[in-house]
Amino acid sequence: MYDVAIVGAGPAGATLARLLSGRCRVLLLHCQRKKCCGGILAPESQKMLTKLDLVLPHEVLVNPQPFAVAVWDLQSQLVRRYARQYININRNTFDHWLVSLIPSDVDIRQGAVYRHSQYSDKNGFEIFFVEHNEIRSERVRFLVGADGSFSTVRREFFADCPSPKRYTAFQEWFELQVVLSKNSTQTGIDFQNDYVGIFDSDITDFYAWMIPKNEHLILGSAIPNGNKTRELVERFKAKLCNTGLHFDFPVYREAGSLFRPLNPFSVCLGSDRVFLIGEAAGLISPSSAEGISSALASAYYLAQTFSSQGFNLDAYRKNLRLLRWQLLLKMVKIPVMFYPWCRKQIMFSGLTALDRPS
Ligand SMILES: Cc1cc2nc3c(=O)[nH]c(=O)nc-3n(C[C@H](O)[C@H](O)[C@H](O)COP(=O)(O)OP(=O)(O)OC[C@H]3O[C@@H](n4cnc5c(N)ncnc54)[C@H](O)[C@@H]3O)c2cc1C
Repeated sequence: MYDVAIVGAGPAGATLARLLSGRCRVLLLHCQRKKCCGGILAPESQKMLTKLDLVLPHEVLVNPQPFAVAVWDLQSQLVRRYARQYININRNTFDHWLVSLIPSDVDIRQGAVYRHSQYSDKNGFEIFFVEHNEIRSERVRFLVGADGSFSTVRREFFADCPSPKRYTAFQEWFELQVVLSKNSTQTGIDFQNDYVGIFDSDITDFYAWMIPKNEHLILGSAIPNGNKTRELVERFKAKLCNTGLHFDFPVYREAGSLFRPLNPFSVCLGSDRVFLIGEAAGLISPSSAEGISSALASAYYLAQTFSSQGFNLDAYRKNLRLLRWQLLLKMVKIPVMFYPWCRKQIMFSGLTALDRPS
């Protein structure tokens, strides 16, 4: 019998497995898929890595390291650049690195996909998963859902908890030189070095982004579910082409789902025996979709509550209080950032911008 089964080995699950190693018997279901992600480590993620005593290895980094975020309002054609220190990473290499740090006493089942559980007695339950095309089962005392925005564990155990708003994230990779080949864009954005956030309420009520990655440029957008994603993305690209950029020949396309918690009740941390961490819990920024920091933080704070009795839900909630307040603050700020009129006024004023009008 295992003490803890963790479903998913993204940043949240891999970190929790590493922190529980040596303290209890851990089973990690690691169904590895390439994650569709911008691969930007915001200052909050950098702080969490420091807290976890982790130093990024060289092979995780990609060029350039952006020192500015350019905010581009496509409808009003306003652009402002703000100073921010991000770390630009290869997201897959980052995930592999976190898994490589897990000590060998953790039983990692590569390719195993969690299906469902059955309560067997008051001490635990039996979990069922697919491994090597066969249904397997194991008995466990506690179950942790670290299975991201499409969490099976969340849907199985916490269907009553309101789901965060769902988006389809779509990313295309282009040759940077081809994007800039017309050489006629007048936006003032440094596309080779800036992280660009693009707002256009005709396309999405969230945002789109451009991120340079070595010789490539990622163009991504988050479109609310229920819309025709590809149609909107094509319309969006046509608008960008009108500004002098060239988005005709993607070298690679990827898509994924994304949670956006717009209501504090959509954050769900678990119950007595089943816990959620990372994006499965709804812990992701509703203003920027930055979620690696809260994946790391929730794993760290849940691990802190572990004793011979198991996890402590109240202590986990308490540990996450500050993070939840920060998320709430971001939810409150949404109308200011995402309502076109308010955003225009702020951008027009140039408040805190690098290119503030004198
Ligand atoms: C397009 C896009 C861009 C993003 N860009 C950024 C960014 O630049 N910076 C940032 O900080 N955040 C970004 N995010 C958010 C960030 O990727 C997530 O918040 C973060 O990955 C959450 O980590 P996690 O460990 O909770 O979940 P995930 O990273 O999603 O990991 C979940 C893991 O569980 C596995 N899994 C799922 N179901 C099962 C199952 N049934 N059985 C076994 N395993 C399962 C998955 O394969 C995956 O490996 C972005 C998200 C998207 C969609």
